[in-house]
Amino acid sequence: MFSQNPVFVPGPTNIPDEIRKACDVPTLDHRSASFKDILTPALNGVAKVIKSLTAEVFIFSGTGTGGWETAITNTLSPGDHVLIARNGMFSDRWINLCKRHGLNVSIIEAGWGQGLPADKYREKLAADKNHEIKAVLATHNETATGVTSDIAQIRRAIDAEKHPALLLVDGVSAIGSIDFRFDEWGVDIAVTGSQKGFMLPLGLAIVAFSPKAMDATKTARHYRTYFDIQDMAKSYETGGYPYTPPVGLLNGLKLACDMLLDESLENVFQRHNRIANGVRAAVDAWGLKLCAEKPEWYSDTVSAIVTPTNFDATALVTYAAERYNVAFGVGLGKVAGKLFRIGHLGKLTDVMALSGIATAEMCMVDLGLSIPLGSGVAAAQEVYRASPLLETKSAA
Ligand SMILES: *Cc1c(COP(=O)(O)O)cnc(C)c1O
Repeated sequence: MFSQNPVFVPGPTNIPDEIRKACDVPTLDHRSASFKDILTPALNGVAKVIKSLTAEVFIFSGTGTGGWETAITNTLSPGDHVLIARNGMFSDRWINLCKRHGLNVSIIEAGWGQGLPADKYREKLAADKNHEIKAVLATHNETATGVTSDIAQIRRAIDAEKHPALLLVDGVSAIGSIDFRFDEWGVDIAVTGSQKGFMLPLGLAIVAFSPKAMDATKTARHYRTYFDIQDMAKSYETGGYPYTPPVGLLNGLKLACDMLLDESLENVFQRHNRIANGVRAAVDAWGLKLCAEKPEWYSDTVSAIVTPTNFDATALVTYAAERYNVAFGVGLGKVAGKLFRIGHLGKLTDVMALSGIATAEMCMVDLGLSIPLGSGVAAAQEVYRASPLLETKSAA
């Protein structure tokens, strides 16, 4: 049933009305000049959001997973070695995708709740004297555990060993919500989708390739047709698409980028940090803990909240949907039933966040946890009251 309640799943995120309207465009001949007026600003907008002057951005109809596949198949060949750390369900799925493509995957196991261990990446790279490892894979924000990792540290680990491997980054639940510095961090491929930080409906796989990644596409022998970067690049030269493009979503993306840049990226990141601080203050007031083990790993886009041992966190998510018509995220994989997630990425305000915190609180009390009603809300209110007004009107 349609509801005006915001959603608190960590993607798909709430769609602002103006973006929903921008996606609603009449059929347009994508071979006409007017398509270029949508495509070009959308591509340029994404480059600005990831802070890159050098990346080539490509957009496919698809999802983040399609973006992963694009990254792998365009730069690698079957049998190539890749190095990746597993610290949650999304890094696990990326590993699975690599294996299915016949890649030789070296896995660094990290705790679910821990960040990516740059020192272990470095050890593996140091041991790889013959430079067998062709790509280093990193999940910037592990959505399953609410853990953000330091991508600059991974880059430093690669550089310290003077290793030529590509750095491929899953930025799906990060880009557009928390700081992402494609050029500064020496990222070779960044992957995201439309339905998280870009506040759009599901339907776009968004990838950015560095010049080095573009070079790798010339020798990569994985089969690829639909997700072929070269086909896409060639069509972009004339402002076109190699097949029928998702025009409405691209028009929405153009606006989404404008909105993020108008608010200013630094304000967007600050807003996410403030909202997350409020959620974390609530979790603390409830006497609960986050899955993320250390503050340096706390995610500003999703909080994974561990519930007491004899409490079924998945039941809470089901109950919230049925009783209050509010969506939270369930625990995935190893942490299923042990935690629930409050997604706070995309176009969220302090006031929206308070409604999610209040609802989570009602659900926990309804289901028998002894938490004083209002305790988490009050803690978050203090955080939001204390923060200075942001300067732009669109940041409200
Ligand atoms: C959502 C998500 C994905 C998967 O994206 P889909 O669009 O569902 O294919 C991958 N990685 C991370 C970190 C995510 O949060």
